Amino acid sequence: MSNSYDLVVIGAGSGGVRAARMAASYGANVAIIEEFRVGGTCVIRGCVPKKLYVYASRFRDLFDVAPSFGWTVDASFDWPTLVANKEMEITRLEAAYVANLEKPGVEIIRDRAVIADPHTVHLVGQDRDLSARYILVATGGRPFIPAIPGAELGITSNEAFDLPALPHSILIEGGGYIAVEFATIFAGLGVHTTIVYRGDCVLRSFDDDMRRGLEAGLIDRGIKLIYQTTIAALSRDGADIAATFSDGVTAPYGAVMFATGRSANVDGLGLQAAGVTQHANGAVAVDAFSKTAVPSIYAVGDVTGRAALTPVAIREGWYFAETVFNNNPLAVDHSQIPTAVFAEPEMGVIGLTESEAATHGDVDVYLSRFRPMMNTLSSRTERMIIKLITQRDGGKVLGVHILGPGAGEMIQLVAIPMGMGASKSDFDRAMALHPSAAEELVTFKTPSYTYRNGQKIGG
Ligand code: NDP
Repeated sequence: MSNSYDLVVIGAGSGGVRAARMAASYGANVAIIEEFRVGGTCVIRGCVPKKLYVYASRFRDLFDVAPSFGWTVDASFDWPTLVANKEMEITRLEAAYVANLEKPGVEIIRDRAVIADPHTVHLVGQDRDLSARYILVATGGRPFIPAIPGAELGITSNEAFDLPALPHSILIEGGGYIAVEFATIFAGLGVHTTIVYRGDCVLRSFDDDMRRGLEAGLIDRGIKLIYQTTIAALSRDGADIAATFSDGVTAPYGAVMFATGRSANVDGLGLQAAGVTQHANGAVAVDAFSKTAVPSIYAVGDVTGRAALTPVAIREGWYFAETVFNNNPLAVDHSQIPTAVFAEPEMGVIGLTESEAATHGDVDVYLSRFRPMMNTLSSRTERMIIKLITQRDGGKVLGVHILGPGAGEMIQLVAIPMGMGASKSDFDRAMALHPSAAEELVTFKTPSYTYRNGQKIGG
């Protein structure tokens, strides 16, 4: 067992694992330290289990429309089966991550790490020091919980996946990704679900039409929305938890979940003592090459507070390895990141929102609202929304926003022409694929409305 490495990675999540594997493949002697499970938030208690649970919850919508296609469905749901099957899948993925680390020779150390100085990492459990030419901080994020009385009675997304039983009702605080995704999951699985949010519509930074469309979809699925309100306190109420809101109202819920954002996972890491600088919110400050204020210490992923998304962390980890161990300096372009909110309806977006674009010169907005074909035989009235925002008169595409079935898959593909700087006329040249929802993207004829000198015209 060596005590001296070219690279010591702290945290075996998406960013850390990719960096470790790539660095080792370039011949570096690499150790990766993990105190929990290999795979990080994404695999163990984030994207992967979340998407599996979203699939589980979507059967409700399918059962709803099934009779209009001639099906009679007598369905019931068993939570322990879902939890157990999820566990099997993430255990399989964790093993694959371990194997992929071991293949190029990365040493996996199960322990808690503290940075002792710019070239030393202390293993707390083993009381051992590792010396490192480079240290990579890839410790991710953790849920932020507001400091209110009784906060310990609430759960976060960490615990939500493994609840011993589904609660009869749940109150979710927050209006971001996690709040709306978990509201969709719980409501779809039959739990009376309420979102309480301090703002006036969920998903603050997204395009307004998408936000309102998603909000309508949540309401359509029985989710109650309480706006301009926060949870002031939690207390026990028999088997329930009583939530007292900022307006003084108190109500009981089977469970209360905080989806109030995530903070950089930096406590007790020894960053300050080592000379690493942090932003006011605790995130590690890095340059375009993920280097911290200390030349031998780098950081990638959620801990840097750049974009808390798995593919971004993976790209940052890969480019770190290229830069430091392959003499190929690469900086990640964070400007056009596609993202999806796996709520119901699903949202996929890339580029500028309409209100952002309106401040970027003259723009044209193409907007389509239509019933997804799947709903046309049923009484469901929900509309799909597709919005294309371009520079005026067939210019560059600045933003694409999709709400409805398959939105995430569509946006991933839209990211390719967007990255190439495609214009509206490039989209127009593409032959439509019929019948599909995505064909709307290439069949828009005239703008629904425009912005000229910042003023909205038409619409
Ligand atoms: P978000 O930042 O998306 O949302 C946090 C929400 O909590 C916001 O609505 C915010 O309100 C609210 N909030 C923050 N502080 C308080 C407070 N003190 N009291 C009451 N409300 C508060 O964070 P999430 O936790 O949902 O997700 C974390 C990140 O993880 C996301 O930003 C995203 O990058 C990533 N993620 C991505 C997913 C995906 O790709 N599908 C899925 C899940 C997570 P306000 O709007 O007013 O600021």
